[in-house]
Formats: sequence, C-alpha cells, structure tokens
Amino acid sequence: MIEVTELLGDGIGPELETAVATVSDAIPVDLHFNKFDWTLERRIKEGMVPILEGEESLRKTHLAIKYPTVTKVESPNAILRRRCGFSVIYRPVMSIPGISTNFTEDVNVHIVRVATGGTYDDPGQLIGDQAAVSLRIVERGPCEHAASFAFELAKDHGWAVTSASKHTIQRVTDGFFESVVSGVSKRYPYVQHKRELFDALLGKIVLTPQEFQVVLVLNEYGDFLSDLASGMVGSLGTGASGNFAFHKDHSISLAMFDPAGGTAPDIAGKNKCNPTAILLALSMLLEHIGQKKVSAGLKGAIFGAIADGAKTSDLGGDLSTTDFTAEVVHRIKSG
Ligand code: ATP
Repeated sequence: MIEVTELLGDGIGPELETAVATVSDAIPVDLHFNKFDWTLERRIKEGMVPILEGEESLRKTHLAIKYPTVTKVESPNAILRRRCGFSVIYRPVMSIPGISTNFTEDVNVHIVRVATGGTYDDPGQLIGDQAAVSLRIVERGPCEHAASFAFELAKDHGWAVTSASKHTIQRVTDGFFESVVSGVSKRYPYVQHKRELFDALLGKIVLTPQEFQVVLVLNEYGDFLSDLASGMVGSLGTGASGNFAFHKDHSISLAMFDPAGGTAPDIAGKNKCNPTAILLALSMLLEHIGQKKVSAGLKGAIFGAIADGAKTSDLGGDLSTTDFTAEVVHRIKSG
C-alpha cells in the first residue's frame, strides 16, 4: 500500500476529489489517501494548523496530491513551497487529440522550472514616488536540482534539454544559471543540451514545437512559458504539475502533484467541472512512484475518451464530471 497525503481544497475541489477516489478504486495500485482539510473555511478558523498537519503528513508519505485552494493573503502552495523547499516545478504540456486549438502542430513540451527566486521572492520597494526596484535572486541549489531533474527526464526518454534565458543581457544572473546548467550537463554526455535566448525560444516554440522536448528555465520564464504552451494546446485548465523538493544529492525528497486550474467557483457543486487535470496529476503521481504502465494506461484512457468525443462542457461536450470519470474508468477496466 502506498500512502498519499491528500490536500483538500475549495470550489470544485470536492468533485475532483470524488473523481480521484473513483479512478483510484479502478486501478491496480493500492493507494491510501490521508485527507487534510485545506478549505478556506478551515484555514480561516484554524490559521496555520491545517497547513502544518498536511505538511507533517507529507514529510512522512513524501507524496501528495493537492486540489485547488482559494488564496487569501498567501496561497497554501506558496507557504508549502517555502516550508518544504519545493524548488522545481515540472509541467508537461501535450496536445490532446479532440481538443481543438488555433494551432496545427503537435506539442509535447516538458517545462522544468526553477520554482524559487527570480523576482518572485521579492515584492520590491518604492524609491520615493519616482521609481521602484526589486531584487532578482538566482541560487545554485535550486538551479542544480532543476537541471539534474531535467537531464534525468531527458535521459529516461531519449530527449534533448534546451535551457533558455536572457544570458546575453542579464549577464550575471542568467549567465550564472546557464553556467550551473552547463556544469550539470557534463554529467550527462549522452543527453543533447541546447541553449536558446528566451525571447527567441518563444517564437521557435510556436513555429516548430517539435524541436523542443525538455525546456529548462528560471522562475518567471517558466511561468510565462507554461501558459503560452498551455494556450497552444487549447486549454489552460487541462494540465497538471509536479512540485519537487530534493536531497543534497539531487534525488527527490518530496513530491506534490496538482492541477493547473483554479477553484472555478462559478461551476462548483454543479457536476460540470472537467476532472482531466486532476486525473493527469494522479497519472504523474503514479509515474513518479514507478507505476509507469498504470500511469500510461490512465493517461491513455483520459486522452482516448476526449479523442472519441466524451467531453465536459468546457471542451464543448455535454458530459458531467461523474459521466466523464465513469468513461475513464470504463476505458481503464477494458484495458
Ligand atoms: P481561482 O481564484 O481559484 O483561480 P478563478 O475562477 O479565478 O478561481 P479558475 O478556477 O482557473 O479561476 O477558473 C477560470 C475559468 O475556467 C472559470 O470560468 C472556470 O469555470 C473555468 N474552469 C477552471 N477549472 C475548470 C475545470 N476543471 N473544469 C471546467 N472549467 C474550469
């Protein structure tokens, strides 16, 4: 039995939780979910208590799935990222047959993002009323973890790694990032490493996405690129991410998987939401624990259902959340 910390959320969270439970019952892996209530109501009532309880469980199980949560003041994701040292976000972005896009090429890009530092850790400071500054931080540790993760991923799948930054302009910070990446790349002589300027990468990824497999970037660039790539595959809401913390030797110490979308309060409780992203998060979790076949089977069931027109209303279909989930389960069971 594999223990998984389950961090419950707001809005459509309970419906996504039901979809995960239903699919988990149908797969041949014994997952046991330890549930922690991270709804806004409980966080308002008990402050940091639910967050700390969830964190304690995560440190025991090393594995979590998290539902969308409403952000008030600071997001639980940001708190957890800081407390647990989640320094890398992995976001695969793939075209899903059956989801219409403005874009004809197939996309299969794996974004590995340094999740800390950059300009995002410093809100900045006003200098009188004429200027504002913020500090941009690039640290060796998270860059090495992200680079190691990216090269391992590329090695496992026979892919190339493209690191992208503005090292010709941000010579010190982005230059430092690229030099750390080059250092890590030397441990992977059989993995091709390419370098692009980030602005050039944006153009190329739109024109020729098939040239990119693993793309390794600093925090802000990863933020922009994730949404661009998601837009290219026709939906901001059907992807999932893995958040990782590491040991000193770059092996993964903690992993948390979550869907890209938010709490969707407008459709919460109506059995309308699309569970694709949370089920893809579950598929990533399964791959992470070594259940590659089951993970691929789940992904195939989700993609197959959509390709055959079984869609929720956000994708132009008429299936409810529970109907779509049942279709995925049916496909898993029929192999
Ligand atoms: P939050 O504050 O949690 O980010 P939000 O409403 O601002 O909530 P999203 O939750 O991302 O942002 O929702 C944006 C739009 O996408 C909404 O119209 C919502 O209904 C839709 N949406 C988001 N997730 C899903 C989903 N899983 N299935 C269907 N529609 C979704």
